[in-house]
Amino acid sequence: MISLLEAWEKKRELLSMLKEKLSQSEFEESKKDPHSLRPPRPCGLTVHTGFGCAFCCVYCYIYDMGFTSKPRPYPLSGLQISYAISSNPSVAIGVGGTPLAFGAITEPFMDESRKKTLEYISTISSYLGNPIQFSTKTFIERDLASEIRKSAEKVSALVTIVTTSLYKLLEPKAPSPDERFMSIENLSRAGVHTVLFLRPILPGMKIDEVEEIVSRSLDAGARGIVVGSMRVTEKMIRRLKCINYPYMDDLLKRIPGMVRGDKQVTLRMNDLKKMVYDEAWKLGARIYPSACAANMDAHGISCNACDMGPCGDPDNLPGFELDEVRALGKYYEIRVEKVIPGDALKIKASGDKMRIKQFVEFAKWVTKRKVLAKS
Ligand code: SF4
Ligand code: SF4
Repeated sequence: MISLLEAWEKKRELLSMLKEKLSQSEFEESKKDPHSLRPPRPCGLTVHTGFGCAFCCVYCYIYDMGFTSKPRPYPLSGLQISYAISSNPSVAIGVGGTPLAFGAITEPFMDESRKKTLEYISTISSYLGNPIQFSTKTFIERDLASEIRKSAEKVSALVTIVTTSLYKLLEPKAPSPDERFMSIENLSRAGVHTVLFLRPILPGMKIDEVEEIVSRSLDAGARGIVVGSMRVTEKMIRRLKCINYPYMDDLLKRIPGMVRGDKQVTLRMNDLKKMVYDEAWKLGARIYPSACAANMDAHGISCNACDMGPCGDPDNLPGFELDEVRALGKYYEIRVEKVIPGDALKIKASGDKMRIKQFVEFAKWVTKRKVLAKS
């Protein structure tokens, strides 16, 4: 049984403890940092360990978002980022709280960002304890794998490998797939829960290549596989044409509608996804429906917070008091008028729309259920 009100109290206590440890200027900087307000993505809150990436993958969207190929670490200290994350009203603290995803707009283990990433994993795990996942293409040598292992009791590693035939063309400055298979081995041997991240699936991908990537990952110790579709922007299509991507016609056929500017459009890939799932299943790989599912598994948590669930054992979903859902509303300055229990928790609430959204995110991760709000 969990208590929503205790979860809120825990957040408040942690904030006052962390504030004591920060100087006034560090505190001011943390308070206005975007991590303190950014809404979580479906997989949890993205945590930026740096900006930019030197690996220059042609299918990467960060360059269209204004980030460069000269990476630099995030400016906040571990304590500051811990404060910023904890002060985010949408975020629940603790191992049963909001999952944290490292690596959205950078590669977390490049030379420039590695120290910062290890500092963030270690500080966030010891003060907040939230489930942490990272995705990487860096070659993780044995020493780094054991440093990662030491930085947190549990962490979820996703090693990205999407092609063994076109990596020189598509990922010109990233470590080779051979090195990444070795990363899976080193992380797994160090005791880190490691999963193959096959995202983005590439148009033109053939079954033999899927078989090679999945079986070599499993041999290296991967616990399973997370698959994701490709998203394109106008500039990305231009870059792919420029390098003569051999499956351009197939890619273009998969675009639903128009691609304009920096807006990311997800390609139609159900057929390729099915091919990857079927092959992974044949090879005995565990298929996680999403990156957060691997993160939950790494931390031994069950979750049914979205339509892809339940993940883990549904009998282990936490129980909670319905009255507390109403009472929690007060902390968000909203009025929870009705609560209907079920597979999804349905609530009728009145008040500021932004506060209702933050309330929903918090309640969703604490209860590990879908929370649907109607004003
Ligand atoms: S490694 Fe990741 S962040 Fe870096 S360029 Fe490639 S896709 Fe982008
Ligand atoms: S149910 Fe599974 S996929 Fe959905 S949010 Fe929870 S862990 Fe993620």
